Amino acid sequence: QRRRRFLVHHLRELFEEKLGAKHVDYGQSTASIVKKFCEELPSDNDEPFYIVNLSHYARQYQQWMHFLGRIRPFYAVKSNPSSFIIKVLAELNGGFDCASAEELELVRKSCGDDFDFATRIIYAHPCKPFSHIQQFRKAGVQMTVVDNEDELHKLKQHWPEARVLIRLKPNDTHSMSPFSTKFGANERECITLLRLARELNINLVGCSFHVGSRCLDPNLYTEALKQARRIFDIAQQDEFKFNFKVLDIGGGFSGHNWDKPSFPEVAKVINHTLDKLFPESEGITMMSEPGRYFSSGGMTLVTRITSRRIHNLAYKSNEPVVQLDRKMSLTASSSETKDENDTSERALIESAENIYYINDGIYGTFNAIIFDHKIFIVHYIRMSNEKSDNKQFKSVIFGPTCDSIDCIAHSIDLPLLSIGDVLWFPDVGSYTNACASNFNGFQTKKFLFIWRN
Ligand code: PLP
Repeated sequence: QRRRRFLVHHLRELFEEKLGAKHVDYGQSTASIVKKFCEELPSDNDEPFYIVNLSHYARQYQQWMHFLGRIRPFYAVKSNPSSFIIKVLAELNGGFDCASAEELELVRKSCGDDFDFATRIIYAHPCKPFSHIQQFRKAGVQMTVVDNEDELHKLKQHWPEARVLIRLKPNDTHSMSPFSTKFGANERECITLLRLARELNINLVGCSFHVGSRCLDPNLYTEALKQARRIFDIAQQDEFKFNFKVLDIGGGFSGHNWDKPSFPEVAKVINHTLDKLFPESEGITMMSEPGRYFSSGGMTLVTRITSRRIHNLAYKSNEPVVQLDRKMSLTASSSETKDENDTSERALIESAENIYYINDGIYGTFNAIIFDHKIFIVHYIRMSNEKSDNKQFKSVIFGPTCDSIDCIAHSIDLPLLSIGDVLWFPDVGSYTNACASNFNGFQTKKFLFIWRN
């Protein structure tokens, strides 16, 4: 306990110094932290920003070691390739799952040339371009994964000394983002790979799997561990004579304490199965590749309403708006008959009362609505003096680009808000800025740091 407290204190001081992280009391609400930051910024600031709580990553790491102490986490950089997450986890002795040469370079930049690439990085992509293999090899990385025969030939030619895991194809039907249609070898394919690896003298050292991102059923880990046990046993047979010593259980863990199943519940199921199938006495090195577990929380997006179109419906009556002469009679455009029950996105937008435009959108942080099935939670803070009660109106929130697909909420109840008011969104860390573009010249690039404890 004392060591842990010392470490957290050391990290706080380090990141206060390195990144200017402000110390914030744990009891302070996120709403009040956001408000304070907004008040401190110039009143005409209309640049979106993230507030990053660096202590979140340290706490997640400690929770991981508490509940799954046998398994070393290699943070999946893809889920949020921000150097501040890499730096905190590196200080805590975490490893990294890099899927490309650029992710490797990011770890190098964040941790320095002295970083132990050999033991703290896994090149966890089963399908690798030659040029990336060369860069991982040159950096001194030792471990990678394969799931097909061509990849073994590729390794023989370009990385013959690599320590290689076979990536299995687990059942991932209860995960929000399954991967098994794209990656993984079934048992029959594993046997072919074992045979070929023996022939090519490839150093197969174990198995990996990924049960799919945001796995909603912990029993999928149990099933995958059973699959791995079978391949470990088959690999030992005389025909193959491999002595597997590494098991990588991938990612898929939720990063929110309120999710069901919770992380401790999932950890309990995994520990129970490991004790039965891979007891500690066997001396297997256990590793994992959690992404969203670390990155989901910790980041809050703060946006501003930059424009609005209010009383939208008032202009949509069937009455002629302006009577012109007989040659040009202009009537309101919504004279077509409307289906009252139409819940299409277009109908929802057209029937909204107020429309807001904010400075981050679908091409930015909110791409996760499309790519990660993410549900964002919105809060608002009034910054202007415009008078408004709390009467709710059906509202639309658009992002900043010129595209109408750039819609964050098609029908949401909000009071009348003003230009300059703040909309903020908690827990936006995973698969958000990682996949954001700079389309139309809009991207949230500003990060403000806190250390909350
Ligand atoms: N490992 C691999 C090989 C992956 O493809 C992914 C996600 O795409 C991860 C780890 C991280 O998964 P998660 O964020 O669900 O933990």
